Amino acid sequence: MTDKERNKIIAEAFGLCWHEWEATQFPHCKCKHCGEVIIGIEEDGTEHDFSTWPGFGIIMEKGWKREWWLIFWEWLYTTTAIDDLWFLKLINPPIMFAELSTWLSENEK
Ligand SMILES: [Zn+2]
Repeated sequence: MTDKERNKIIAEAFGLCWHEWEATQFPHCKCKHCGEVIIGIEEDGTEHDFSTWPGFGIIMEKGWKREWWLIFWEWLYTTTAIDDLWFLKLINPPIMFAELSTWLSENEK
């Protein structure tokens, strides 16, 4: 799975639009999903990067509002709890990014 695919899986699990831009009326581009308009050209979905600290913040802010959040944490516990400090290792954007996207890809949400 590429980082782009991982970001897309997480964005969609939180109900965030994975913008796909199409040129409409110069200099505007419009997202073909939500209708948001930007000026200029942007790569599809690039506003989402959950491997960063801001992305980690979004995961933590939105996660607990999802029905599957506790199921995800039970899975994290069974796969990562090799010692008493297992949860501290998860306060790490790249690790949380990898674990959450892996779990989401294996569990239909
Ligand atoms: Zn959009």
